[in-house]
Amino acid sequence: MVILGQWQNHSFNLSIKSNCLTLSLEWDGKAEVYSFDCAGRLWTALVENVSYRRGLDGKLVAKWGTANEARERRWIFPPASLEFEERARQRAAALYAAIQQGQAVLNADLPPAGALGFARALAFDAARSQADVRQYSQVYQPVGILPPDQYMAVVLQMALGCSFNTCTFCTFYRDRRFRIQSPQSFRQHAQAVRDFLGEGLSLRRTIFLGDANALVIPMPRLLALLEVVHEVFDVAALGGLYAFLDGFSGEKKSAADYRRLAQAGLKRVYIGLESGCQPLLSFLKKPGKAADAIQAVQAMKTSGVAVGVIVLLGAGGQAYARQHVRETISVLNAMRLDADDLIYFSELVEAEGMEYTRDAYEAGLQPLNAEERLIQGEQIEAGLKFSTAGGVPHISRYDIREFVY
Ligand code: SF4
Repeated sequence: MVILGQWQNHSFNLSIKSNCLTLSLEWDGKAEVYSFDCAGRLWTALVENVSYRRGLDGKLVAKWGTANEARERRWIFPPASLEFEERARQRAAALYAAIQQGQAVLNADLPPAGALGFARALAFDAARSQADVRQYSQVYQPVGILPPDQYMAVVLQMALGCSFNTCTFCTFYRDRRFRIQSPQSFRQHAQAVRDFLGEGLSLRRTIFLGDANALVIPMPRLLALLEVVHEVFDVAALGGLYAFLDGFSGEKKSAADYRRLAQAGLKRVYIGLESGCQPLLSFLKKPGKAADAIQAVQAMKTSGVAVGVIVLLGAGGQAYARQHVRETISVLNAMRLDADDLIYFSELVEAEGMEYTRDAYEAGLQPLNAEERLIQGEQIEAGLKFSTAGGVPHISRYDIREFVY
């Protein structure tokens, strides 16, 4: 339900949904938008053409466009993030007081759900926000990364870390030993996640099985853990199960296994293909072969499980560029992806101390600049062929620097 209103010289509207409350208002002649989940947490905001998103860990990511159509971002940590949350709360408090005191004119009465939304947002003050972040860090090991379409998932850390941890361009789980949770410890974790999210669960759209490759868990143990997920959450109502899997895993699942997993609610698996070029995969110390990824995708697709395939742009620099493009096209085409699937182009992000950076320097690799990386994505995309019957997968960019959970 949307309510339009006027208060002094501010016009505003309230969007009251079953999963969030959004205030859009004009303040000092500028548009401001604040959304809160049903637990009262600030979720997103827009102030002076900068969009903000609060992660459950309390950090905010601010993003804005530049004159040359580039996107910039900045992370905001406490105390600045708490100050921003307070600003949102103050706006909500002022508006709610004006509504209650009859100073604001609305085109419809504020329904009880709207009043409840305000009450929850106002109760989520700095002390509550800090307590929430403390609870988050007790419930979760830091969530390393998710595919962009899964940022609003309920993450359940069924297995911790990565079973490989060898890829030179990836630092997400270096400090974490791979461990599969027992059903008992996983049940406690899942219940703690449910309790932590509280009413905010209504905003979550899917369930993501963490961390890096939960689907390497052998079938009997995996099915036992999935039973726990169903005990604690309404999987169908939450939109099903999603997970990463390294396409090159030693623990290969058959089409029959994927059929069983689809029955348990598995909807899509995200595969870090990175490249179809075998020498480049070896340089990246990515385990296994591209051919294994094709086989894994076929097993999933024939079982009704969709895939999201991630390609790394810029990996191997100029030296590998042509082969990377050519052989990645060939592998993606062999996967026979369709409209249910996704392809993500993720730019290589180098960081100080990263093994890849050292290896590339020692091998004398000339890196691709930002524009060349984008062109590489366009070249791969231009070579892709899809059947008219199956349709075209959604293709988009994946910027790991914007990840927020
Ligand atoms: S398999 Fe995936 S998560 Fe593990 S090290 Fe490689 S890229 Fe990182």
